[in-house]
Amino acid sequence: MSRNEQLNCQWQLARVPPAGWPQNDDFSWLSTEKVEPEKDQLLSRTLYLSMDPYQWGRRRSGVEVPGEVCHGRTVSQVIRSRVSGYEEGDYLFNTNGWQQFGLTGAGISNFSYMHPRKLDPALAPISTAIGVLGMLGLTAYAGMILQCEPQPGETVVVSAASGGVGQVAGQLAKIRGARVVGIAGVQKKCEFVTQELGFDACVSHLSDDLPSDLAKACPDGCDVYFESVGGCVFDAVLPLLNHASRITVCGFISQYGNTDGLNPRKLWQQKGQSRFDKQAVAVHDLFVGNFVEEYQSAFLTEMGDYIKDHLVQYREDQWSGLENAPAAFMAMLKGGNFGKTIVKVGAE
Ligand code: NDP
Repeated sequence: MSRNEQLNCQWQLARVPPAGWPQNDDFSWLSTEKVEPEKDQLLSRTLYLSMDPYQWGRRRSGVEVPGEVCHGRTVSQVIRSRVSGYEEGDYLFNTNGWQQFGLTGAGISNFSYMHPRKLDPALAPISTAIGVLGMLGLTAYAGMILQCEPQPGETVVVSAASGGVGQVAGQLAKIRGARVVGIAGVQKKCEFVTQELGFDACVSHLSDDLPSDLAKACPDGCDVYFESVGGCVFDAVLPLLNHASRITVCGFISQYGNTDGLNPRKLWQQKGQSRFDKQAVAVHDLFVGNFVEEYQSAFLTEMGDYIKDHLVQYREDQWSGLENAPAAFMAMLKGGNFGKTIVKVGAE
């Protein structure tokens, strides 16, 4: 084996990130020795790495510490196994993090509430295990279907509509018979949302007058709001909330680079409270981890059928090469992505 074949390239967290958005200096690129699996462990190579906004939350809040391999969910392939039931060549949903090779199994502390599972490449492209058939698909399903229960004819508004979670959430509401209005950034994303995903309308938050554009797109107000953004997007939705409307509070991505140290969830509640009270709005906090145990298997069956029957479309934004992970991550947080952001680390 050549020296290169023994190495494992990886990104580690370089420092406790300063307040604001991520920067190149937050990450360091290292080559370490590849480690052999012990009893009840397996070694896998990373094929696809998921870029997710929550990773920034872990780094900013100190859950991930300097010198640790950056956390991330992956699709990987077993190259050596000492775990019964797992063979060389098996594809896995896994949590290798931002590195080429990772150990999984007994004694390995890999933060994840989603456990490793084998993937059948005949059922769906394996990259979907970190996308539409993974954590983000379950997030959309839990927030939209389980919490907000959209009804036929209701108006549903979805923020970050062309992104990983938003594209799935809106299509699920369409399947339930709702009228769905997306909010996205640039024009080509808005066109994708209506023309490819089949939303009824999509308005741009970059417009000079988002409140008026959104009001025109929602002549009957808003019955369900899927909140992923906060800020001026929430400001535009707030006056449209109907009596007995429902909100799933999925995220506040526009606030993830804030330097004021204030709690975006708390400020959001304060801003909305009088409208929530007046209109008897049901506000549901969403944490996907709370839905894994009870709903993952039903979700995989239902979503798997939608994908097979082409009822749900999905767009991935694939970056090539582990060395580009920080760039992909930083772009995704500010709308530089178009679809679910994935880094392709190794060939299938
Ligand atoms: P996306 O693929 O949607 O990428 C993020 C998108 O956010 C960008 O494409 C961009 O779209 C939009 N965006 C960024 N900044 C702004 C801004 N200032 N104003 C308006 N839109 C902005 O990411 P994910 O699908 O992975 O995540 C979407 C949301 O879901 C996030 O808030 C995330 O934290 C949350 N989430 C929550 C989970 C939970 O358990 N609650 C689990 C998983 C995700 P555009 O260019 O159209 O503006």
